[in-house]
Amino acid sequence: MAQSREQIEQMVNQWLKYVEELMKNEGLPIVPEEKTGDPLWVDVREMRLKYLIPVKRIKKFFDGLREGKIYATRCPVKGIYYFPPQADCPACMDENLEWVEVKGEGEILTFTKINVKPLSFIHYPDYIVAIARMSEGFNILCWLSTDKPDEVKPGMKVRLVVKRREPEGFFSYYLEPA
Ligand SMILES: [Zn+2]
Repeated sequence: MAQSREQIEQMVNQWLKYVEELMKNEGLPIVPEEKTGDPLWVDVREMRLKYLIPVKRIKKFFDGLREGKIYATRCPVKGIYYFPPQADCPACMDENLEWVEVKGEGEILTFTKINVKPLSFIHYPDYIVAIARMSEGFNILCWLSTDKPDEVKPGMKVRLVVKRREPEGFFSYYLEPA
């Protein structure tokens, strides 16, 4: 279910109001975690972060997503794959990595279902983060999108696909059952 920026803002504000009320009542900045009830300390600092990361040298990756393609980089010397792509090879300091379109076939190595989310992720439904071994021989870590979360298990065949991330609406990559 997609939510607008206003709705997300509203959820965050509601949560902050709830925390403030509890703090007044309890005399301590401690709130119960929604699902487990475990105590959480609420830091008094309120931060808003938006990271800006230079991506000039891996722009092809983002252009690829828009075309429905997923690229990794590969070191021509050592043959090591980098995903998400890196511009330089940390193993041999080579700056001329090759672009390789990922076949997208893989197998789940391990996964976890996230149902206790950080504040900046509360507007998403519960999600699964998985590590998959791709047929090229490298591992990737990303969200696994599925209608049947109970059927996810290690060894399950998956494919890597481009989908829009909602509610933000930008192209990203996901694993899904093959
Ligand atoms: Zn290298």
